[in-house]
Amino acid sequence: MNDVVLRGGTPWGLGAPADILVRDGLIARVEAGVDAPGAREIDLSGDLVLPGLVEAHCHLDKTLYGGPWVPHSADDTLAGRIGNDLRRRGELGVPSVERISALLETMTRFGTTHVRTHTDIDPEVGLRGVEAVREAASRSPADVRQVAFPQHGVLINPGTAELLEEALKSGVEAIGGLDPAGIDRDPVRHLDLIFGLAERYGAHVDIHLHDGGSLGVWELELIIERTRVLGLGGRVTVSHAYALDDAAAARLADGLAEAGVALATAAVYSFPVPPVKRLRAAGVTIACGHDGIRDLWGPYGTGDMLERAMHLAYRSTFRRDEDIELALEAATYGGARALGLTDYGLTPGNPADLVAIPATTPAQAVVTHPPRTLVMKNGIPLPSTP
Ligand SMILES: [Zn+2]
Repeated sequence: MNDVVLRGGTPWGLGAPADILVRDGLIARVEAGVDAPGAREIDLSGDLVLPGLVEAHCHLDKTLYGGPWVPHSADDTLAGRIGNDLRRRGELGVPSVERISALLETMTRFGTTHVRTHTDIDPEVGLRGVEAVREAASRSPADVRQVAFPQHGVLINPGTAELLEEALKSGVEAIGGLDPAGIDRDPVRHLDLIFGLAERYGAHVDIHLHDGGSLGVWELELIIERTRVLGLGGRVTVSHAYALDDAAAARLADGLAEAGVALATAAVYSFPVPPVKRLRAAGVTIACGHDGIRDLWGPYGTGDMLERAMHLAYRSTFRRDEDIELALEAATYGGARALGLTDYGLTPGNPADLVAIPATTPAQAVVTHPPRTLVMKNGIPLPSTP
């Protein structure tokens, strides 16, 4: 028996301090005054205890994290960023197992226990990114799931579709897509291909959708319809969904919720953020992630999902505690639902994946995102931020 008792922290949602008994990597009990003779004791008095944070949208394979500072060198257009990425990634040694490992270590120190990462797949890089992420993930305690991501298009980039299929065959958990209209110029064929692969390999779907306006709304409708018809509810995510302004959300929220299509937002720069409150009220799953972290697409990102939740709350103009808590929900339970995790949360029977924070309320944890007191994955305490 390998018991640990976490004493006196306040599990999120409980409203009062309780002890958490961890046995053989699982949460065994959550109640006040747990009696566990011989158990290792960890004092969390005054701390808030959250389930492990979920990074639901990042690009580990692109990162330069932990290496020398690289000044941003792309121009300010999407085409410029893509061209710069293709030109410089080889020179900078991207993808790098060492850089990915450095970033994963920082993420877990901040309390992230689950990661969904979009890995570039194209005829030039092939599956090297997939392999690099897989290698780094094998050295990390975090649960890392990949999305086979056609960053440079599928239909417009011959050879990519075959590589995406190879990635799924090799065990990659999700198939990605990219602006079926704006980049690939043929949404029906693009979605046929992506959803076809998802069905064939039992994969999740996570589509980058930057297309705005009525074009983006129409693509969302196509995605909702396919998800419904194919019965893929709970397995489909649309990332960014810049077209979802208030008016579009009013029209599509029920459809997204009923079909089981989740949204992942990064709340970066001045790009649109879907109306989180309205969508949550309709029952739409909202997840959150950094997008790129220190890469050729931009120099920002720390790997801290509490800080990212703060950005989401700030960009959503949330001031009240209960609203700010919606951003934290996106960085925890929302991400877990989008990833399809079935054993997530501070409930007996689930793996002891959690993070303790010196804060009295979830909103304070988000706004101040202080150093973590304890990070635990499968019941094992990990190094946390000092
Ligand atoms: Zn992305």
